[in-house]
Amino acid sequence: MQRLDGKIAIVTGSGIGIGQAIAMRFAAEGAHVWVTDLNGETAEATAQLIRKAGGKATAMLVDVSKGQDVTALVRAVASAHDRADVLVNNAGILVRGELRTLTDAEWTRLSEVNIDGVLRLSRDCLPLLRKSAAGSIINISSIMANRGLRPLAAYTATKGAVTALTRGLAVEYASFNVRVNTIAPGYIETAITERMLKLPQARKLLVDKTPMGRLGFPEDLTGAAVFFASDDSLYCTGSELVVDGGMSASL
Ligand code: NAP
Repeated sequence: MQRLDGKIAIVTGSGIGIGQAIAMRFAAEGAHVWVTDLNGETAEATAQLIRKAGGKATAMLVDVSKGQDVTALVRAVASAHDRADVLVNNAGILVRGELRTLTDAEWTRLSEVNIDGVLRLSRDCLPLLRKSAAGSIINISSIMANRGLRPLAAYTATKGAVTALTRGLAVEYASFNVRVNTIAPGYIETAITERMLKLPQARKLLVDKTPMGRLGFPEDLTGAAVFFASDDSLYCTGSELVVDGGMSASL
C-alpha cells in the first residue's frame, strides 16, 4: 500500500521545479495527479513522465490568475472524479527589485499569481475537497515570508499573505474536514533562483548560511508534501513545515 493510494491531487505550476517534483512523488505514492501549469507543454511533459513510470496523471493548462481557467479545471476534475483530496497551491513567480522601482504592472502580476491564485484555487476547489474523506490544501510559502531580504520586499509580502491565508483558512475549513497547511522552503535550485545562484558570490553566501552545507533540490520538498497530503497529518491544520537545511534556525 502506497501512502497516497487512490487520492486525487491537483498541483498548480507543476510543469517544472518544485511542483513537478511534488507531482511525480504524489503519483509514485499512488495518487492520480492533475498536473496543471501556465505552460501546457511542460504540464503535458510531466504527465507523460508520470504515465511512463506507471502512474496516473492528467495535464491541463491552467493560469491560476485567470478565473475561467480555474473554473474549467474544477469542472474537469468534478466530471472525472467528482471530488479532489489534495490541492497544492505551488504556482508562483518572483519579481526582484527594490520597492521604489517596482512598477504597478509588476506588483499586479506578483499579487495576482502569488496571492489571488492561491485564494481562487482554495475557494473554487472547496466543493471538490469537501467531498473527500480527508481534504488537504498545501500552500507553498517561503522562509522569507517572515524576514526582510533585499531586493525582494514585494515577493516576500506575497508569501507572508500565503502564510496568513493558511491560518485563516485552516480555521474556516476545519468544519468541512479540509486541512490547510504551509510548506516554507529555503533556497531551492530551480528556474526561479537560477539567475541568482549563477553568481558564485551569492551561491557561496547562501551555502555558508545553510547549516546542512548545501542548497535544496525540488525533491527535498516532496516528503513534506506527502506528509500533508497523506492521512499521517490528519490532526495537522494551520501548520507550517520549514524545509531549508537549517537556514532559518541559524539566521
Ligand atoms: P519554477 O521552477 O519557476 O516553477 C514555477 C512554475 O509555476 C512554472 O512551471 C511556472 O510556469 C508556473 N507558473 C508561473 N505562473 C503561473 C500561473 N500564473 N499559473 C500557473 N502556473 C504558473 O519555481 P519553483 O522554485 O519551483 O517555485 C515553486 C513555488 O515555490 C513558488 O510558489 C515559489 O515562490 C516557491 N518557493 C521557491 C523557492 C526556491 O528557492 N525555488 C523558495 C521558496 C518558495 P512557467 O515556467 O511557464 O512560468
